[in-house]
Amino acid sequence: MPAAPLDLTSANNLVQSAQSIIDAALARLHDLGGPDRQQGFAYDLAHAASGVATARSALRYAERGETESALAAAFVALVLHDLAGRVLGREALWGVTDPWYEPFAAFVAYYREPAFLAALAETPGPRHLGDDFQSVAELFHRFAEEQVRPHAERVHRTNADIPESIITGLAELGGFGLSVPEAYGGFATGGESEYLGMVVATEELSWGSLGIGGSLITRPEILTRALLRGGTEEQKQRWLPRVASGDVLAAIAVTEPDFGSDVANVTTAATPTTGGWLLNGAKTWCTFAARADVLVLLARSEPERALAHRGLSLFLVEKAPSESPGFTLSQEARDGIGTGRLEGRPIDTLGYRGMHSYELSFDNWFVPDENLVGGDEGRGQGFYFQMAGFENGRLQTVARAVGLMQAAYESALEYARHRVVFAEPILDYELTRVKLGTMAAIIQCSRQYALDVARLMGQGDGALEASMAKAYVCRAAEWVTREAMQIHGGMGYAEEYAVSRYFVDARVLSIFEGADETLCLKVIARRLLEARD
Ligand SMILES: Cc1cc2nc3c(=O)[nH]c(=O)nc-3n(C[C@H](O)[C@H](O)[C@H](O)COP(=O)(O)OP(=O)(O)OC[C@H]3O[C@@H](n4cnc5c(N)ncnc54)[C@H](O)[C@@H]3O)c2cc1C
Repeated sequence: MPAAPLDLTSANNLVQSAQSIIDAALARLHDLGGPDRQQGFAYDLAHAASGVATARSALRYAERGETESALAAAFVALVLHDLAGRVLGREALWGVTDPWYEPFAAFVAYYREPAFLAALAETPGPRHLGDDFQSVAELFHRFAEEQVRPHAERVHRTNADIPESIITGLAELGGFGLSVPEAYGGFATGGESEYLGMVVATEELSWGSLGIGGSLITRPEILTRALLRGGTEEQKQRWLPRVASGDVLAAIAVTEPDFGSDVANVTTAATPTTGGWLLNGAKTWCTFAARADVLVLLARSEPERALAHRGLSLFLVEKAPSESPGFTLSQEARDGIGTGRLEGRPIDTLGYRGMHSYELSFDNWFVPDENLVGGDEGRGQGFYFQMAGFENGRLQTVARAVGLMQAAYESALEYARHRVVFAEPILDYELTRVKLGTMAAIIQCSRQYALDVARLMGQGDGALEASMAKAYVCRAAEWVTREAMQIHGGMGYAEEYAVSRYFVDARVLSIFEGADETLCLKVIARRLLEARD
């Protein structure tokens, strides 16, 4: 490691300078017509802003000690280097002139020094969770190790279902109620720590497996937040305790074959009928739809197209759980309506196996009035309730990515310790160590940002930050799992090594919960611009 410890004041000044470049670039973006007119620029800007936000959080972590400060320094250098890569050749767009990079050069040179990064290879750093959340981490880590990991390879390789023992075990641990307020039978106590338990537990479960661990609690998270935002008191009382206990398992049915990123234009129709609504249309990528007891479904209740997203409502669609990969369900004929049908066809995927994603077709499927979220006042409000759910889902996805990266890092470190090539363990080669050191910095600083965003969300803020954290960390997870796989050489490509699964699992993170491009352009860049106004 370099002899000189990190000078926090100058590091903070540098991050502030990077922020000033981003602020000036946002002004340019605004003048040039905004993210829809300048997509290439806006995308880079959103990613750079997300990196800088993570770096700011890293510097708070740096205050805690020497290891923390070394990891943070490496991370800040990485972010500044990334910023340079995005600006280089596009200075006119960014509105910078030479020597714009000069203030950063010495810092980046110092903390990107290969020997410095190599020294961090086996130094992942303490998490500083505090006693309460450390206990939560240990509890879920043990569960992941004993109950999740032993099944992960088989489920992945045979495309099997999540074992019921994991679902019941997680329910017993309270995993489904982490964000459900205590008043409704869950464990969220409100205030700053409201989301911390969920983030900590999700990381550990995802360390066990993305497909059969951490992702199991994504859907209850989204349902919980949507209900807390828009549900009537009666609906909260009816659903939340059962969500918290795991008695009700949910799936999210928003995406349609023709409308994924463009959520506001979904077309599945909800038509009023006696005592409720009839659903007709198709949804796709509905993960866990077979096993779920309820689908959280966004449908067009107000047919005037001009209403766009204000014509959407959110429904809780009850259904019988099914074990089989594909399913067909029917409802008894109703007066003058005939039989309702719901069919599910599974979509085979590269990874993220265990929950299975489904294409769904609804034919006159009846939903009672009481299952319209928010009741009559919720008509036309579904888009907003769903987006509230997604904000939570994005933070949860950040924690999923961190857990997955942690698993990949540990696996690569372990392999590198034992694999001897050219008569040396590959861990002794500088290049292996540089990769591992870089991973350690990325993972710890991503984790610290996730925890900071969780605290912000607990204070009722942090929606933009959750999106920024997701944008940064999901791309980072692709790099970390790729390099972890590469450290395994040929065995990284063998299914019997978990790292090959980590690699394919990581790839989905920047597709769902807001595809990376849409998230950057339509959420992050847009909100950063709004925040200036
Ligand atoms: C494994 C998996 C599980 C999923 N689980 C669920 C689930 O449980 N429930 C659910 O509702 N959905 C789920 N999804 C769907 C997911 O949310 C969508 O795939 C995602 O929103 C993207 O939509 P799309 O696939 O239609 O892509 P599109 O919207 O067709 O986008 C295609 C590409 O174009 C880019 N793009 C889109 N618009 C723009 C633009 N304006 N400018 C530039 N680029 C643009 C996108 O970023 C993307 O790269 C899941 C998806 C996967 C892969």
